Amino acid sequence: MSEERSLHFLEEIIEADLAAGKHNSILTRFPPEPNGYLHIGHAKSICLNFGLAQKYGGATNLRFDDTNPVTEDTEYVESIKEDIQWLGFSWKQELYASDYFEQLYQFAETLIQKGLAYVDDSTSEEIAAQKGTPYTTGVRNKFSERTVEENLELFRAMRAGKYKDGEKVLRAKIDMASTEMLLRDPIMYRIKHAHHHRTGDQWCIYPMYDFAHGQSDSIENITHSICTLEFIPHRPLYFWFIEQLGIFPTVQYEFARLNLTYTVMSKRKLLQLVNDGHVNGWNDPRMPTISGLRRRGYTPESIRDFCDKVGVARRENLIDLGLLEFCVRNHLNKIAQRRMVVFDPIKVVISNFESKLEWLPTENNPEDENGGVRQVPFTKELWIEAEDFMENPPKKYFRLAPGQMVRLKSAYIITCNEVVKDAEGKVTQLNCTYLPNSKSGEDTSGINVKGTLHWVSAAHAVPVEIREYDRLFTVENPAAEEGDFKDFINPNSLHMISNAYAEPALAQATAVEHFQFVRKGYFKLDEDSTADKLVFNRTVTLKDTWAKTAQK
Ligand code: ATP
Ligand code: MG
Repeated sequence: MSEERSLHFLEEIIEADLAAGKHNSILTRFPPEPNGYLHIGHAKSICLNFGLAQKYGGATNLRFDDTNPVTEDTEYVESIKEDIQWLGFSWKQELYASDYFEQLYQFAETLIQKGLAYVDDSTSEEIAAQKGTPYTTGVRNKFSERTVEENLELFRAMRAGKYKDGEKVLRAKIDMASTEMLLRDPIMYRIKHAHHHRTGDQWCIYPMYDFAHGQSDSIENITHSICTLEFIPHRPLYFWFIEQLGIFPTVQYEFARLNLTYTVMSKRKLLQLVNDGHVNGWNDPRMPTISGLRRRGYTPESIRDFCDKVGVARRENLIDLGLLEFCVRNHLNKIAQRRMVVFDPIKVVISNFESKLEWLPTENNPEDENGGVRQVPFTKELWIEAEDFMENPPKKYFRLAPGQMVRLKSAYIITCNEVVKDAEGKVTQLNCTYLPNSKSGEDTSGINVKGTLHWVSAAHAVPVEIREYDRLFTVENPAAEEGDFKDFINPNSLHMISNAYAEPALAQATAVEHFQFVRKGYFKLDEDSTADKLVFNRTVTLKDTWAKTAQK
């Protein structure tokens, strides 16, 4: 997995910091807001933060950024923990920004006492208007002239619940003429009478992201705080708070967020897909969520490999979904057990097969020497794929046709002698004969056939439901299109096959196994399976379309 590659910019920074003795060991953090399920973009950040700590013998904290009581929920907290563990990482400490509410409040009082923060009664419209533009400086209002005592009293009254939502805010007193817009007296606290999923009704003022994030990093002694590029404008403010408070100097670094073709990657948009019923929940196998990918049959190894291949950049880009598929195909080829499943069956009767039943040894995985062998039943009546037969084939058709020979995988060569049709002329059965001396592995027939078909013994066939998935959107970058991204949802992203026939070994399939259905793709048992009906999700097709386009 880890080919030789040069260091990326964050590795260079960390190596330099360690070499200079700036830190003895590194501590990173992954700071999700518990307002949705994690997606593949978060996996990128997880692999980066936990991966760097692993590489340099450090550790990573999991910190829930739960400063916004309205959108957050413990359901999300649980799913986030499950997903990180499934990806193969463990955190040093499980922490919550809300653990620091009292400490953050004290920090705010410290800034008030230093004359660096004030309570403002202006409306949000007034504050926005006074802020100015990148081309004009902002103006301070009369509230900024309040005394330290007055500010302390008002801020304490805010905490005590004396005011309604939006009536007052606490602002940092920095510089209304700064070219950094976020330094123009940014809001630190707002009033919100809302129930918080952890602190309950204890607080009615909540810190803004900028006042919570950096201070939380600092309280935990995070050495490298890694976030995505849209936080570049926040860096001066992040630094300002830490400097004024004289607390541990965590440094913020930014990298490009992961964007993937044919999907969307924001929790807000994913939530819309769930709420509007375009998908069946956060873990729908078409979703780019970790739980969706897991249910679909992706492996943690393949996702980590993908994040590794994408690399760490400092410029936004759009990654081909084909690369993710390439990674999972690559891993599943090594670990998936081969099974035969006929999706659209047509009956084959082997007239000269005298014995009732023969068990044929078949390798579970030719790519894995420890994969073992299973016995597949061969009988007089078999199912093959309807599309593997043509009554009037073109030249170079190597599958079954009248008078033509094919090999049945791990079994015998058969010849089609007769085509049976119903009253409407639809082919219902193919009468064939087999060559007894053509058994796979001990073939003495001397006959070479080009086509090999998968098949299932009719008497042993296990009916299964197959769910094939396609891209969720019809355009590469739905979020960048004009109008509503939901207008670009692919109406054919789910294709169900309700009556496929599987070889009997599949009846024992478990939720932790991965399968390659011969000639069909990679599959995994779905959680909708019952004892009566097994349901399989197609993880990915067999064909490696990405590698082909990449070679061009
Ligand atoms: P979304 O826009 O999907 O809600 P977010 O950034 O608001 O994402 P957070 O829960 O705040 O979600 O993110 C936790 C961490 O994951 C942050 O450090 C964030 O930068 C990182 N992250 C989120 N999306 C991506 C992405 N697409 N690529 C890389 N990192 C990401
Ligand atoms: Mg966020």
